[in-house]
Amino acid sequence: MSDCLFCKIIDKKIPAKIELDEKNLLAIHDINPQAPTHILVIPKVHIAKIDEIEKNQAALAGELIDAARRIAKLKNISDYRLVFNNGAGAGQSVFHIHLHLLGGRPMHWPPG
Ligand code: 5GP
Ligand code: ZN
Repeated sequence: MSDCLFCKIIDKKIPAKIELDEKNLLAIHDINPQAPTHILVIPKVHIAKIDEIEKNQAALAGELIDAARRIAKLKNISDYRLVFNNGAGAGQSVFHIHLHLLGGRPMHWPPG
């Protein structure tokens, strides 16, 4: 999608600090980190929000979680939080699915 920020990052038209670049996904460091480790795991296919994942794409969510798990392991982070914000009211600001991986500090609950 031409006017999507994360599609532009995936196409390397906008720079980002890349943590992982694989066939179906890209993981980058969040520009405004909310924890010592704050990585965004982004599918290369443009899907605006979790709500719009098709039945035949269900495996994609698992792939994102698996990538986040592998990154946490590489960084020796055993306790971490994974977050998908779905919709503006839930805090979504970039409408291309991404999984937040947050770690390196104590996490509080409820998140607010
Ligand atoms: P959301 O609010 O949609 O769940 O998360 C979007 C995330 O993207 C935010 O945490 C925000 O800091 C991050 N972000 C926004 N613009 C950029 C950018 O240009 N580069 C990177 N690396 N992260 C960004
Ligand atoms: Zn996109």
